[in-house]
Amino acid sequence: MSESRPVRAARGTTLTARSWQTEGPLRMLMNNLDPEVAEHPENLVVYGGTGKAARNWEAYDAIVRTLTTLEKDETLLVQSGKPVGVFRTNEWAPRVLIANSNLVGDWATWPEFRRLEALGLTMYGQMTAGSWIYIGTQGILQGTYETFAAVAAKIAARRGGLDEHGGGTLAGTLTLTGGAGGMGGAQPLAVTMNDGVVLIVDVDETRLQRRVDHGYLDELTTDLDDAIARVLAAKAEKRPLSVGLVGNAATVFAELLARKVPIDIVTDQTSAHDPLAYLPEGVTVAEWHAYAAAKPEEFTERARAAMNKQVTAMVGFQDAGAEVFDYGNSIRAEAQLGGCERAFEFPGFVPAYIRPLFAEGKGPFRWVALSGDPADIAATDKAILELFPEDEHLRRWITKAQDLVHFEGLPARICWLGYQERHLAGRRFNEMVASGELSAPIVIGRDHLDSGSVASPYRETEAMKDGSDAIADWPLLNALLNTASGATWVSIHHGGGVGIGRSIHAGQVIVADGTPLAAEKIERVLTNDPGTGVMRHVDAGYERAEEVARERGLRVPMWES
Ligand code: NAD
Repeated sequence: MSESRPVRAARGTTLTARSWQTEGPLRMLMNNLDPEVAEHPENLVVYGGTGKAARNWEAYDAIVRTLTTLEKDETLLVQSGKPVGVFRTNEWAPRVLIANSNLVGDWATWPEFRRLEALGLTMYGQMTAGSWIYIGTQGILQGTYETFAAVAAKIAARRGGLDEHGGGTLAGTLTLTGGAGGMGGAQPLAVTMNDGVVLIVDVDETRLQRRVDHGYLDELTTDLDDAIARVLAAKAEKRPLSVGLVGNAATVFAELLARKVPIDIVTDQTSAHDPLAYLPEGVTVAEWHAYAAAKPEEFTERARAAMNKQVTAMVGFQDAGAEVFDYGNSIRAEAQLGGCERAFEFPGFVPAYIRPLFAEGKGPFRWVALSGDPADIAATDKAILELFPEDEHLRRWITKAQDLVHFEGLPARICWLGYQERHLAGRRFNEMVASGELSAPIVIGRDHLDSGSVASPYRETEAMKDGSDAIADWPLLNALLNTASGATWVSIHHGGGVGIGRSIHAGQVIVADGTPLAAEKIERVLTNDPGTGVMRHVDAGYERAEEVARERGLRVPMWES
């Protein structure tokens, strides 16, 4: 099904569809598959193992054809990457509704999913791949930066070195991680933005080279001794540095532990959620895909054995005093299936560092300039800083991002904003489109790694205060509410991030085209969507969420008499 067909979204102000409300999803679908953005566009794979934007090229062509002719009161339905129907709705309804990879509970396993996929009946949508709002590695960069900033603060608190803002720095620390793919590739830059040193291991040299080319990684080597010498020199000098090492994480993590290399922080973002996307020891990159396709069960067993070895080393680093966490790829669960009894002795990153932000409805908010003009993003950056002048943390982030982030595909920006903040940004962007300050409409969305739209017991909802980790009503309510509020496209997925059987999540995207109708929709969607995050955390009993709800006026029926 591989096809060499470079896809690139249109730029500029000339419509190829009938309105900006359909041009938005059309350009974003194409942008997801732009070779500058997608990891393996020839197979329609965007990121995250096998996360795809469309079922196959025929389905892709049919989606493009339909979006090009869709009317402003019609809605296209997409079932796991294939367009299946067009219905007359109304102007407030989404232009596209998407359901990806959903399976009934008892059937929600990788083998069953793969059987159905092989029959051509489904597709793995990951999170933002099948919902057409992936923006390259930048999309996860701020979240990764925030996580490492929280790690820095925790280490500083332990060592008595907190700064005046209660934060810390990673200066003089060494982080070890694995996986330099679409998401994992953000790790080296996130660590060096926090002034630390990082060694990142990936089996595939082309992935590490891509991060060097895009400015996310400083250096790469194929030699372990050389890598150790480089990172230890930088650590001693407290000089930020990222070094990529070509190797298998299972082998390298165990070897570094045995050599007692002084590593302070350990995590991993290989594609462990899918055992066929994690390379076992003793298998080469060249052999990988044919072997996985021919003998999936044997491959899975070997991949899990290697994950057992890697996670056992991670636990060993924790025993030796390092800060260790699972970075949202299910490696603990897969290692446990491979026989690692101590896999869950280190926490997931959400309960460890991110949940307080989720309680405020904060999460990876993002927007894209449909014009393709970086000047539009510069103008929106300025607008964000004017809207939130008090937020020093946000200022630091936007300034660093302007300096360090290389755009991939259509220019985009990400920043973490919460309940009663996002709609202010959206409203301002819409005004800027209307006044001509921006040259074309802006698409506004978010990741599914989010506060109110995910049920994922190994990640976003791990260790919820009330034990409600696996309750999946919340993402479904989020999708229904976004549909009722006027989002331009809404999606419901299963299995993103952590793999089939382990998550249910929803996405929304809205097009700010400068019209009064878009302004009304933006006000509702960008208030209600993060509002469901606060609601979810109020219901689970988080005090910070209760405070936010009371201060910012979220109605909670159970509080009313
Ligand atoms: P990707 O498929 O683009 O990249 C995975 C990388 O892992 C590849 O470069 C591959 O070569 C490498 N790899 C596979 N096996 C390896 C091994 N044994 N040793 C070393 N390297 C190996 O995936 P991605 O988009 O970077 O996502 C990575 C993982 O993180 C996925 O499981 C994804 O679901 C998860 N994820 C986490 C977050 C988060 O914020 N924590 C967000 C999104 C996705």
